[in-house]
Amino acid sequence: MTASDLNSTTWADRPEAGPRTDQQARAMDELVATPELLAELKASSERLETASPQEILRWAVDRFAPRFTMATAFGPEGMVLIHMLAELAPETPIFNLETGYQFQETLELRDEVSRRYGLDVELKRPELTVEQYEAKHGGPLYKTNPDQCCFDRKIKLLHSATVGMHAWTSAIRRDQSADRARAPIVGWDKKFKLVKVSPLANWTKQDVWKMITEQEIPYNPLHDQGYTSIGCWPCTRSVMFGEDERAGRWSGTAKTECGLHALDDESPE
Ligand code: SF4
Repeated sequence: MTASDLNSTTWADRPEAGPRTDQQARAMDELVATPELLAELKASSERLETASPQEILRWAVDRFAPRFTMATAFGPEGMVLIHMLAELAPETPIFNLETGYQFQETLELRDEVSRRYGLDVELKRPELTVEQYEAKHGGPLYKTNPDQCCFDRKIKLLHSATVGMHAWTSAIRRDQSADRARAPIVGWDKKFKLVKVSPLANWTKQDVWKMITEQEIPYNPLHDQGYTSIGCWPCTRSVMFGEDERAGRWSGTAKTECGLHALDDESPE
């Protein structure tokens, strides 16, 4: 398997995991993408196209809690969803993939969420610290093989963080990139074997910032310094006027996504 295969590989395809039958998946309390479930998700997604993000979240909580979760990198969209969940369903487990390479400002936002909303966002960390990981690979892998680095320090973490869960919410917007333009409101996330709910799919960047301003929702101060999309510090730069909002992610490489929101996620098995 090459590094470029990693982002299109499902967990069950990994040699160490081995493919699981539907029967095994049910025994492990995983959701199985039966034709009935896929039809239900499609119908729900179409019905929710005109719903507000709050209504979509309400539906997701009613349908999947307590097996409904949220992963956040504390971006503006994530902060809006946290704000909504704090009102609608504060018991929803929320976690952050703490790669060890996040900006200090990002980690401090977690403390602000705790102060403002009383919500504890759980930090999920890879097995190896940054020091151990870089020693193992003879240096920082983000320089030579970012797909592998994202796989080891994000994708694997998300798989373990969502064990026992049936659905997760993402903060993606369709107008963020061509890749994301096809995201349904509700779909089957093939890679993670979860229902993926995207309440902000139909929102614009202006919608997000309007709510942040009006509701005084906390946000990452790096946004005021030209960082429109914030990930790990080695793979993020500020953008210049007129550049795409995600132009600062893995700048200078062909990589545009870490693999959490890859194109084929929603396709049925
Ligand atoms: S964004 Fe960069 S540093 Fe973070 S996990 Fe991916 S390659 Fe590694």
